[in-house]
Amino acid sequence: VVELGMPTRAVETTCAYCGVGCSFRAELRGDTLVRMVPSKNGGANEGHSCVKGRFAYGYASHPDRVLEPMIRDSFTDPWRTVSWDEAISFTANRLRDIQSRYGQNSIGAITSSRCTNEEVYVVQKMVRAAFGNNNVDTCARVCHSPTGYGLKQTFGESAGTQDFRSVADADVILVIGANPTDAHPVFASRMKRRLRQGAKLLVVDPRHIDLVRTPHIQAEHHLQLAPGTNVAIINAMAHVVVTEGLVDRDFVAARCEGFEDWESFIADESNSPEALEPVTGVPAAEVRAAARLYATAPNAAIYYGLGVTEHSQGSTMVMGMANLAMATGNIGRSGVGVNPLRGQNNVQGSCDMGSFPHELPGYRHVSRDDVRGFYEKLWGVPILPEPGLRIPNMFDSAVDGSFRALFVQGEDVAQSDPNTQHVHAALSSLDLLVVQDLFVNETAKFAHVLLPGTSFLEKDGTFTNAERRINRVRPIMAPRTGKHEWEIVGDIAKAMGYPMHYDSAAQIMDEIALTTPTFANVSFDLLDRVGSVQWPCDDQHPLGTPVMHVEEFTRGKGAFQSTAYVPTKERSTRKYPLILTTGRILSQYNVGAQTRRTANVTWHPEDVLEIHPHDAEVRGIHDGDLVTLASRVGETKLRAVLSERMPVGVCYTTFHHPVSGANVVTTENSDWATNCPEYKVTAVQVALATAP
Ligand code: SF4
Repeated sequence: VVELGMPTRAVETTCAYCGVGCSFRAELRGDTLVRMVPSKNGGANEGHSCVKGRFAYGYASHPDRVLEPMIRDSFTDPWRTVSWDEAISFTANRLRDIQSRYGQNSIGAITSSRCTNEEVYVVQKMVRAAFGNNNVDTCARVCHSPTGYGLKQTFGESAGTQDFRSVADADVILVIGANPTDAHPVFASRMKRRLRQGAKLLVVDPRHIDLVRTPHIQAEHHLQLAPGTNVAIINAMAHVVVTEGLVDRDFVAARCEGFEDWESFIADESNSPEALEPVTGVPAAEVRAAARLYATAPNAAIYYGLGVTEHSQGSTMVMGMANLAMATGNIGRSGVGVNPLRGQNNVQGSCDMGSFPHELPGYRHVSRDDVRGFYEKLWGVPILPEPGLRIPNMFDSAVDGSFRALFVQGEDVAQSDPNTQHVHAALSSLDLLVVQDLFVNETAKFAHVLLPGTSFLEKDGTFTNAERRINRVRPIMAPRTGKHEWEIVGDIAKAMGYPMHYDSAAQIMDEIALTTPTFANVSFDLLDRVGSVQWPCDDQHPLGTPVMHVEEFTRGKGAFQSTAYVPTKERSTRKYPLILTTGRILSQYNVGAQTRRTANVTWHPEDVLEIHPHDAEVRGIHDGDLVTLASRVGETKLRAVLSERMPVGVCYTTFHHPVSGANVVTTENSDWATNCPEYKVTAVQVALATAP
């Protein structure tokens, strides 16, 4: 402030990092951003912020920003800077040409959970109306798609049940596969406040995360399970609830269906904590005590993260948590619920906007005649009733030659998606790869077109956070690239023959409200008046819905689902004796494209491998040594950090830096229902590196 001078004006906007969705006042002097001040009246953060939202915005003015469109015939050619008109006609002509040669389904798009709802909406519309297919998928495929599936199957709505405020009423907090201290710091503070007031904490995680023991907080039980055995743990807890008379029979009778079948399945001795102890590695007595604590609390709440979803049974685990919450009556009031902690700022929104290949906006299946009929009339085009390709199918089809062109909005799939070698093979097989991004990221290295994107400081629109809160993102400056991202997409659609023009982001939101029942009452005017709303926001809930499923579930009765534990195919072997699991750190964000271009990078300039001292010693590895990390699909090099956070036999890394490339070793294994990659379980070998 001293250097830049005192601010002369301020704009209320939303952090572009994690799914907490903190509100900020961007304070400016002239056109220069002086500081970001967390908003006291921000619904998600109430005046708090973390180091990313507060300080890590310098990437928006980083010299690496691409500000003009670039094209090239082959990804091995140098880039050529061109006008917007040339970039758009080059893109549209190539897309049309590829479709004429290889068919309507030979092209598709991936949407970004970092972009606004409005930007995502227009991409899925471009795919359906201009491409004429359903080949659109969101990057949420690789993080929270099991949340969408599992909560829809059980509760009828693909979203978390509570608002963040609700944690203040929880008596027991069950944290599963999440590390809120690092990944959702502002919500973690709210949770810690409640824990310091006396709420009890249960943690299910292979890693000894900070929350297990931190000043004035001590978990009652840390169920330090073997990676890949979540479903066994949740079934064992449910077994205790059912066999020890802890079921809330009144709630189940009034609100749920399918209980009897589930009860007989879960009561089977094979689901007991004792029977599953050899599988999970967690002492049965600990599981029993944790289950009793959860089930007997007046209010017990579940919070979970990617440690639940990124498994071969990610969807099963989401349903297992929903079963447990229903069986104990922990749904439908403040202080309870099943709550996904979303990674990126707009994971919820990118899913809500219909960018799944099987669902139109509002999670309505493309096979439904009534839903398709509505959009066909509104958009004036036929919509295919068959689901399109998911991201992994796009990559497989690119390698086999049937999928030839891909539009990637603001995602770096070459770094973030598993099995890097396969992703690179797919991207390099495409006839056309169009990347819309701030930077020449790892994916753009394979691209033929680079359409410069806008930072959050230039965006006008909305993000939807993990508690379904729709927050306004307001620009502090016009797009440095000369065009809004939604304008570019509209121009491509038009150049392909489908007119898609909007005058403003507000106009796109009006169309979203018209087409998406849960957004029926949402408009920029409403958000400017009341600050933010949590969907569903409709005639019955004109100011939104903080807590869902209060009187009845969205689907009517809550549905118990069978959740048999099936071990992952990924096992440790003599050649790959350790299990690698992955996560994030506080100062970095996702693939680091943004945070690596801020001062944050100086705190953690590289990814490291956390390895237990015993596992290190037997390999002759010392703290700080360079090691080779190898799986059956690839290998990379990292510095070792000796740590007792993991049990013997388990190691851990992050994927914030492209050089180390943790996804070089993650495999093609994925969730049975959604294809969410199994990032959390990879059999690896670790050895002292022989060369730098
Ligand atoms: Fe941004 Fe998340 Fe930090 Fe809030 S907690 S400031 S949304 S990164």
